[in-house]
Amino acid sequence: MERYAAYCGLYCGACTSMIMKDRADGVATALQMQLTTNDSPCGGCRSADMADCEFVKCNRDHGTESCAFCTEFPCPRIVSFKGEEWEHHQVVIDNLMRIKEIGIPAWIEEQKERWKCPSCGSRTAWYQQSCPACGEIITNYM
Ligand code: SF4
Ligand SMILES: [Zn+2]
Repeated sequence: MERYAAYCGLYCGACTSMIMKDRADGVATALQMQLTTNDSPCGGCRSADMADCEFVKCNRDHGTESCAFCTEFPCPRIVSFKGEEWEHHQVVIDNLMRIKEIGIPAWIEEQKERWKCPSCGSRTAWYQQSCPACGEIITNYM
């Protein structure tokens, strides 16, 4: 599921727009269907949905599959992105360092575990403070 690994180090599998896309593509589980959101579906930065993203373009220019594998990492662009106000941006440097260490597929597996309800195992999303499936309070939502 490489579409869950953004070039910039975001884990798109925890984005409600990606969950909407998974639903549209029929790969969301019944538990994920219980999440309520008005977000538009997004197929991630390896799809046409994000063709204009600066990180997509820059990685294509550098011939890299992730900023983690770029010789300029951590460049000013990624440091600036990390410094933006949104909490889910603030983990990108740590995520990219982990991707550099273990590779994209193993990192996705780690992230799938990290973004699970501790009670029922349902997939959870950024900023989601309780599980939509079982109601469990999620303390590490960011
Ligand atoms: S220059 Fe920066 S933004 Fe561009 S691919 Fe390299 S690390 Fe990513
Ligand atoms: Zn749950």
